[in-house]
Amino acid sequence: MSVLIYADSNNGTLTKNALEAANYGAQLAKKIGSSATAVITGNVSDAALLGKYGVSKVLHANNGDLDNFDPQKLAQVIAEAAKAENATVIVFAHDYSGKAVAPRLAAKLDAGLVSGAIALPNTDAGFTVKKAVFSGKAFAEVEVLTSVKIISVLPNSIEKIENNTTPEIVNFAVELPTTRLKVKEIKKESTELSLTEADLVVSAGRGLKGPENWGMIEELATVLGAATACSRPVADIGWRPHHEHVGQTGLAIRPNLYFAIGISGAIQHLAGVNGSKVIVVINTDAEAPFFKAADYGIVGDAFDVVPKLVEAFKKFKAASN
Ligand SMILES: Cc1cc2nc3c(=O)[nH]c(=O)nc-3n(C[C@H](O)[C@H](O)[C@H](O)COP(=O)(O)OP(=O)(O)OC[C@H]3O[C@@H](n4cnc5c(N)ncnc54)[C@H](O)[C@@H]3O)c2cc1C
Repeated sequence: MSVLIYADSNNGTLTKNALEAANYGAQLAKKIGSSATAVITGNVSDAALLGKYGVSKVLHANNGDLDNFDPQKLAQVIAEAAKAENATVIVFAHDYSGKAVAPRLAAKLDAGLVSGAIALPNTDAGFTVKKAVFSGKAFAEVEVLTSVKIISVLPNSIEKIENNTTPEIVNFAVELPTTRLKVKEIKKESTELSLTEADLVVSAGRGLKGPENWGMIEELATVLGAATACSRPVADIGWRPHHEHVGQTGLAIRPNLYFAIGISGAIQHLAGVNGSKVIVVINTDAEAPFFKAADYGIVGDAFDVVPKLVEAFKKFKAASN
């Protein structure tokens, strides 16, 4: 019996979300007196890292074309791995891959699925998982009654506990299904820091007046090592690419630090960023709704404040080197 984790990778490297899911699975395995096994697919160079996050065994499926993301094939691999390991709980990260694969797997295994869990399950009586609902405005406790349970974990929602385990890594060959759709090629829109995985995000809105003013936002992001994001109208007008748009209709992100510059804080924007650990708002309007969600607020003109922040961070970095 084991807790099985699907550990996704990107260009041969395990993602930050995958390591968090692995850690969640390992903590859960310890809690229910089981062991944590991860399944990885395609070319992955840092599989041993899973040991640091508590995984004792890694099944590596590298046969067939598993480098290109194909949810149908992945669901098949994970279903086989679950059978081989007699897994009672299967854990995903609640990110692109988790959202695409976990529901397919749930249908395949007739398993109950809780998507977007924010805490370890309560296993004292039954199996109940806490998740955020209504864009983080409320919480639900979902009881899973099926014998196999699937959980996708919201990124940045559990505290990591590191270990010194060296995982056993075994090859796992699976007969891949002939699928009705074939993924031929995956093209990345950008090679910049992944927005959904970034710890720090610098985001700006219509208060920036035009695309020509994004230089200072990019500079602030560079000096902090942050990813850049934007509000929806900014992407709609074409000032910034659509893959930067965060919110209800854009990406949902949960960085440790979110800078919101010249963004009003409409509820649809907040829906995608209110899981951020710390929110810093810079806005000329002291009544802007974003200040209600802010941990730190600066009432001021972005064109004045941002260059000063860039200078201050540069000085701080130089002094700490
Ligand atoms: C169904 C639906 C879904 C939506 N989904 C999303 C979504 O996913 N994401 C999203 O972002 N929006 C979404 N929206 C739009 C949302 O309602 C807001 O219109 C949008 O977030 C506003 O963008 P903004 O804050 O950049 O612009 P504005 O509302 O124009 O606000 C600009 C802000 O900048 C401030 N400002 C002006 N000049 C400066 C300056 N020099 N320095 C500092 N501050 C300044 C202003 O005081 C103001 O607060 C959605 C709307 C609908 C109806």
